[in-house]
Amino acid sequence: MSAEHPGTDVVVIGAGIVGALIGRELAGRGLGVALLDPQPGRGASIGNAGLLVPSFTRPMADPATLWEGLRAMTGSDPLMSIGSLSPAVLTWLARFAAAARPGRAGRIAARLTGPARTAADAYANLAAETGIDLGVTGSGWLQVARSPAVLRRKLALARELTKNGIDHEVLTQAELRVRAPELDPGLAGAVFFPGDSSLDPAAATRAALVAAEMRGVVVHRARVTGLVRRIGEVTAVRTDLGEFTATTYILATGAGRPGGRGIQPGWGWSIDVPAEHPLISSPLIGLDDHVVFNPLAGRIRITGGMRIGGTPQDRHDHAAATAIRQAAERLVPALHDLPQGTLTRAARPMTPDGLPQAARTGRNLVTATGHGTLGMTLAPATAAAVAQLLGHDGRHPEVLR
Ligand SMILES: Cc1cc2nc3c(=O)[nH]c(=O)nc-3n(C[C@H](O)[C@H](O)[C@H](O)COP(=O)(O)OP(=O)(O)OC[C@H]3O[C@@H](n4cnc5c(N)ncnc54)[C@H](O)[C@@H]3O)c2cc1C
Repeated sequence: MSAEHPGTDVVVIGAGIVGALIGRELAGRGLGVALLDPQPGRGASIGNAGLLVPSFTRPMADPATLWEGLRAMTGSDPLMSIGSLSPAVLTWLARFAAAARPGRAGRIAARLTGPARTAADAYANLAAETGIDLGVTGSGWLQVARSPAVLRRKLALARELTKNGIDHEVLTQAELRVRAPELDPGLAGAVFFPGDSSLDPAAATRAALVAAEMRGVVVHRARVTGLVRRIGEVTAVRTDLGEFTATTYILATGAGRPGGRGIQPGWGWSIDVPAEHPLISSPLIGLDDHVVFNPLAGRIRITGGMRIGGTPQDRHDHAAATAIRQAAERLVPALHDLPQGTLTRAARPMTPDGLPQAARTGRNLVTATGHGTLGMTLAPATAAAVAQLLGHDGRHPEVLR
């Protein structure tokens, strides 16, 4: 045991939405938990769109979108690109292509739909526990398309999702104009998913940390620099604040290091535009550019972009912000009159196949990352699954993966 920090039952490394909810869950089951993070709650969990989307569990690795995605990522589109061609990124891309087998994306979507469906209630419970307003709404998700081909593809996917119990409504161009007159009238139509919800991701992440502390979790602003291992077991974590010891260690570092195997950052950008009145009535995605709107209290959050690999130092923010803003203004012309807003860059922890990693990866080590585009949606289910996993003795069941 280190002199600096007394031992505890569980050390959770990383205090994003995943680590904070795991800490809260384990502390609620009577375990002593230390949560280590140099910047708790400042990762992807505050820089995202804040949608809870059972309708969006189909992974990117899918034959229908593989070539389009790879072409876009290797071209000059500032919103879809490759950040580096390092061996690790090339390996990730090869695994991504290999994962895009016919039938597989549908099976993954079916598997993740149930866990995704638990999110809205879980966040409502979190709001009740902490008294923090998370802005949870059940107003559904409107997916609009400019190109008829894009709309047809979405419709085909939506029909497939009905097998998983996901309802949708189709809106023709004329119906969309009546339903959402604030949108560009030139759009081809839309698909509406009434079962999706949304929240304020920063409020949700803050509430997860507050709830964890209310249940006795101790948060240390420590950066983990390595795991100390002996005969197949982790015996301590090294940090800039000294060593921490525990019986069990949980890696929930998102796209950070140390992290899950084969994870690459999927950089994305969010712009918070102050707005006295929401310009749109419900969350929205423009399917042609993948730009997402979430109306929040006093502002609209607009997100977009997927840059695989590379570092935060890549000078890419200006091009991405401009492209997101232009795409957003094409969809909602009244946005043109609002200020530019505040830009945040965040890294989604991307596995090549789109399945999160939530499993034992060592005798006393659990990895809980790789939630990709779905971390807000899947974090509550992951926290419950990890708690269940630790209840098992000696067996190593796969959880979400
Ligand atoms: C633009 C964008 C839009 C998105 N939209 C949505 C959406 O609408 N719905 C949805 O469900 N998901 C969405 N996501 C995905 C979601 O944000 C992520 O999947 C989720 O936040 C990941 O949570 P996490 O806790 O694993 O990672 P993070 O929130 O990144 O947390 C990881 C934490 O680990 C810490 N850490 C890293 N390294 C170390 C270390 N060495 N020592 C200690 N701590 C460390 C970091 O400081 C960080 O706080 C979006 C993401 C982006 C970028």
